Amino acid sequence: MGAKAKIETQAVHAGEPADRASGAVVVPVYQSATFESLPGEEYDDIRYARLSNTPSHNVLHAKLAALCGGEAAVVAGSGMAAISTTLLALLENGDHFLAQDCLYGGTRGLLTEDIPGIGVDYDLIRGNDPDSWSALLRPKTRLVYVETMTNPLLEVTDLEAVVAFAREHGLISVVDNTFASPVNLRPLELGFGVEIHSATKYLNGHSDIVAGAVVGSAELVGRITHKLNHLGGSLDPHACFLLHRGLKTLALRMRQHNENGMRLSEFLVAQPAVARVRYPGLASHPQHGRAARLFAGCGGVLSFELAAGVEAAERLIDAVELPISAPSLGGVECLITRPAATSHKVMTPGQREEIGLTEGLVRVAVGIEAAVDLCADFEQALAQI
Ligand SMILES: *Cc1c(COP(=O)(O)O)cnc(C)c1O
Repeated sequence: MGAKAKIETQAVHAGEPADRASGAVVVPVYQSATFESLPGEEYDDIRYARLSNTPSHNVLHAKLAALCGGEAAVVAGSGMAAISTTLLALLENGDHFLAQDCLYGGTRGLLTEDIPGIGVDYDLIRGNDPDSWSALLRPKTRLVYVETMTNPLLEVTDLEAVVAFAREHGLISVVDNTFASPVNLRPLELGFGVEIHSATKYLNGHSDIVAGAVVGSAELVGRITHKLNHLGGSLDPHACFLLHRGLKTLALRMRQHNENGMRLSEFLVAQPAVARVRYPGLASHPQHGRAARLFAGCGGVLSFELAAGVEAAERLIDAVELPISAPSLGGVECLITRPAATSHKVMTPGQREEIGLTEGLVRVAVGIEAAVDLCADFEQALAQI
């Protein structure tokens, strides 16, 4: 397969081993913790599942590196294992870093509860206010950490400014690209140093494992893998197998997520009961221009507010039939939540208000259903509230 193959082709063929195991078309589950040492092998050649170097891991690493346009990749036992291991690998006692102010809840918890205890300091930055960033630099600032889009308000970060800022000041730029997936955005091509995913979401796509991934240069991924070997957050072989299977349909699934996200957003905008819809694909979105320029599609997550407020939002969540009331995103099935009562419950109402997260905001993560059925379901539910 040529290096210029389209992402649909790469998802299926990239990284697949030439020496098919007994001719099997699919890489089997290598359900083995340890592997036979061969004559002449050194200590560093040991293959062991925690070291993420078994055939189950290697095929994933090669495929993910190809999909993201990176030199190397490593998978981890969850998205949070990928994030925490990356930060612990790239920062040491006395270091300082900058992180976006609106982060995934688990990442926010890691920063507020765990990072201070290891002697690493950070400041929060607004993802769309690059002029304010340099005032926060310190002599020991090493890294800048952002997310492609914020959850659940879908603000698109000024990614190009982050790359330029990191280059100017010699920082490692790290982006959590979970919400875009490499189908909609390849941050390494923009100049980011490290791309992280919760592979639990789009990469696996079937809501049946938790997994994480880190992609970047061989040097940085090598450092992160070394730390992962010590911390132990590796991905088990069976989850590797499922993630590998999921990845093959990533491009196909993203096409449907993108279409459903767009179609449901447009449908909701036209409903009198809906006060406001947030989706980067809408021309009314504050960073629509950036999204249109950088993204191949805007993904499957959107959020909206009903004119009638919180109780109406709860009634709507009860009244829809297809979406399941559950957190997470990126699976084949549509999910719905009210973030103030679920993912962002730990924040105070004041903190939520500060980032524009109202009590009645509803977040939808569309699956790969037909858009017409999703819209019809929301139509019947809106008629009931
Ligand atoms: C879910 C998620 C994570 C955490 O991933 P887990 O696989 O649940 O550990 C991190 N970042 C983003 C943007 C997420 O959506």
